[in-house]
Amino acid sequence: MKNVDRKDIKSLTLSQLKEEMEALGEKSFRAGQLYEWMHGKLAEGYEEMTNIPRRLAEQCALRFEYTTLKTVQMQESRLDGTRKYLFALPDGNLVESVWMRYKHGNAVCISSQVGCRMGCRFCASTLDGLERNLLPSEMLEQIYAITRQTGERVSNVVVMGTGEPMDNFDNLLQFIMLLTDENGLHISQRNITVSTCGIVPRMYQLADRQLQITLALSLHAATDEKRRELMPVADRYSLQELMEACTYYFEKTGRRITFEYSLVKDVNDTNEDVVQLTKLIKGLNCHVNLIPVNPIRERDYVQSERHAVESFKNKLEKNGINVTIRREMGRDIDGACGQLRRRYIE
Ligand code: SAH
Repeated sequence: MKNVDRKDIKSLTLSQLKEEMEALGEKSFRAGQLYEWMHGKLAEGYEEMTNIPRRLAEQCALRFEYTTLKTVQMQESRLDGTRKYLFALPDGNLVESVWMRYKHGNAVCISSQVGCRMGCRFCASTLDGLERNLLPSEMLEQIYAITRQTGERVSNVVVMGTGEPMDNFDNLLQFIMLLTDENGLHISQRNITVSTCGIVPRMYQLADRQLQITLALSLHAATDEKRRELMPVADRYSLQELMEACTYYFEKTGRRITFEYSLVKDVNDTNEDVVQLTKLIKGLNCHVNLIPVNPIRERDYVQSERHAVESFKNKLEKNGINVTIRREMGRDIDGACGQLRRRYIE
């Protein structure tokens, strides 16, 4: 029986959960116990919660939704151990997450929406538009499910999978609160990156929260004209507005901005692009991440050649810009964002 009014218990903060327990006439320490089981021990259901009285567990089951994800598919790279997960949400929708192992720790890339309505031309996640936002619990649970399965701690989280996190702003903030909470996984804000296509008013709102997370901006072009060809969101916000928002973010948080720049052959990888990009971001406290575009079947964008990528990087460095080429992980498992899910649905 599905009751749409039921609250989602794993999306509540500890203080919200305390209020719920009080409303039920329970002692408030029960909230702490439940919270510890859900967010500390990553319990998959009330039956695991040995110190919770049966009567309370039954009440909770009646009153609340207990969100868990089902693993539908997992692919592991033979090259570097990267794993791609396809999860089913409680309503049957599917989302993708990626687990990557680095020297400094394990990172998970999570999805923030089912589908996306931003329409970036080179991206597979947006081809069918937006289905719905993910709840805080559904974002958390991607990390929890992977932690249970790998048995290893996750130290870094990037919100760079399917969806536009700034288009699901309140749930994103609640997710970050829960993820960084000392009674949960207690992941440091500095180890969280949120990537956006550039929804300017939300960037200001996020800056005003003064969190220590990293903001990554998907730039991909250094002139408005070119950016509009790749990203419809560029019709709404100009590069100048974006740069002002980035400056504000840095001033408010002290956190250096990351610019993501996916290189598309003959589209945004020329010498002129280097010049324009330098002019645009020079003087900003930032870092550029170059990503050879991952071609998707539905569009005919071609990846820049290796030497073009190297040369783009070297020229930027000569111009005094911090830049790295994103190491490609899991080359041998299903390609670009959103492709695993699309293939499975087909
Ligand atoms: N909506 C957010 C986060 C999800 S996309 C954003 O736009 O930033 C994560 C990153 O992957 C973005 O920089 C996006 O532009 C990039 N991306 C999407 N499809 C890609 C592809 N086929 N090849 C390379 N990068 C891609």
